[in-house]
Amino acid sequence: MDKLSDVICKKCGSVNDYWTEMKSGQQCAYCNGCDSYIKNVPYQIPKFYIGKYKGETISSCKDLSYLKWFLEKTNPKASQKTAVENRIAELEGR
Ligand SMILES: [Zn+2]
Repeated sequence: MDKLSDVICKKCGSVNDYWTEMKSGQQCAYCNGCDSYIKNVPYQIPKFYIGKYKGETISSCKDLSYLKWFLEKTNPKASQKTAVENRIAELEGR
């Protein structure tokens, strides 16, 4: 029973049903049901969940074509999409 890891909305009572947004270095969780701020949650380093780099962190990937494939073909979550887009910009912007 790890109560700390549960994200529970105090307003509507939904459990682990939230979206996140980065605010001044903190990842804040907001309720999907009522859009209320719930709490700060630990920032999870975005990783690939599919393909040949599955399990590796996005920010350390050097394979530009894979990054583009991932972005186009897998419809990633917002946090992963942002990480991939940032990484592509980094690799292309040298
Ligand atoms: Zn709620």
